[in-house]
Amino acid sequence: MIQRLIIQGGTVVSTEAEIRADVIVEGERIAALTQAAQPTPEDTVIAAGGCYVLPGVIDAHTHIKLDTGIYRTADDWFTGTRAAAFGGVTTVIDFATQFPGQTFREAMDARRAEAESAAIDYALHVMVTDLPPGDEHKLGELVEMGAPSFKLYTTYRPNYYADDATILRILRASVEVGGLVMVHCENDDLVTAATQALVKRGDTGWRFHAQARPALAEQEAVARVLFLAEAANAPLYVVHCSTARSVELVRQARQRGQAAYCETCPQYLLLDERVYAGSNPEHFILQPPLRAEGEGAALWERVAGGAVDVISTDHCDYSLAQKRAKDDFTVTPGGLPGLETLLPLVYTYGCGAARGRLTMPALARMLSANPARIFGLYPQKGAILPGADADLVIYDPAAAGTVRASALHYIAQYNPYEGMPVRGAVRATISRGKVIFQAGEDDCTPGHGRYAPRRLNYNR
Ligand SMILES: [Zn+2]
Repeated sequence: MIQRLIIQGGTVVSTEAEIRADVIVEGERIAALTQAAQPTPEDTVIAAGGCYVLPGVIDAHTHIKLDTGIYRTADDWFTGTRAAAFGGVTTVIDFATQFPGQTFREAMDARRAEAESAAIDYALHVMVTDLPPGDEHKLGELVEMGAPSFKLYTTYRPNYYADDATILRILRASVEVGGLVMVHCENDDLVTAATQALVKRGDTGWRFHAQARPALAEQEAVARVLFLAEAANAPLYVVHCSTARSVELVRQARQRGQAAYCETCPQYLLLDERVYAGSNPEHFILQPPLRAEGEGAALWERVAGGAVDVISTDHCDYSLAQKRAKDDFTVTPGGLPGLETLLPLVYTYGCGAARGRLTMPALARMLSANPARIFGLYPQKGAILPGADADLVIYDPAAAGTVRASALHYIAQYNPYEGMPVRGAVRATISRGKVIFQAGEDDCTPGHGRYAPRRLNYNR
């Protein structure tokens, strides 16, 4: 007999509306939404009165167990995905890195082997670092492996950097194979010049970090890559936009008819460069860096106006020891933990009382439906629909709390949002019909998470 789970009395959030409905889950799938479910004694019932029932969050940009070739985070796939479960995240789209000498299949196999302990489902983008001219058709192998999104960097010489000709070549090839190029945009020359000027002055302490990577470097690279994508007639996804102007550039391209998408992250919405003058600047070393005061408000306007497609985290779980090893931004690993706080922060500062920037359907679009659609997981994931995977979050808007690193489940013993008030709390997280978190306790098991192959459909 198929196990039934009934989520009763909640407010179900779709991409268009909030509706009062009970959600009936059979096995791993959503079976139906109904006005008045009639549970039998065999059914498991979760009372969701007063709560929102949201599609499970899909964090489309994470770096669990990250190995950059220089730094390694100390987490593993179980630790990382368990923290995600506490935060209502039911799918991560992480990255397989093509290390020097690796074929795409080797890169994918190695990353999937690491991810075998995942407690929630995962998909993989691929960091393409070595694709000589003539080999572009090999991107088709990634499409066949269910990993049709290819990440490129306009910075980080020599390991990850792709020059303009390479970017254009891979954009063109992505159209041929049915893929999507995603780009980390920072003009490498501008970043290098700004960094070298600081190094020359001896100003390499953490507090100078933001000066090394100016906003203009990001904006120029966004404009350039959009230009190349237009020439290739290729869809493009711009990762972690940290300035409103970057988002505007993407929005304008879309208005011209380009399939252009962008994401931002909570750190760029909620934090700014003033923290570099504070007592723990090392907590905030990341690329791109935090921006000027006021940029967050301008980004929120773009989020509220629908110009931002996805809010993701760029989660990297470096330890405090790694962050503090040396007061020098040039050798401090960049990245912040974020998986567990994504939903509470976006809810609090987007939808919470007195904010009113976002409707609940808009939140569901940016945290679930849009990443699922853009990256090819929809409708299996990303919405509460009959037949879809039963990936669900029950969120209680009445709860109130404060972000405390000590209450989170990362390796890092700090949190960039320490002390910030949050409204609401995750009451339960359900991954393919399994309750993996409820009432403060998790029931995560290594290996419950499965690889979710993706397929894109950009009609060009
Ligand atoms: Zn990243």
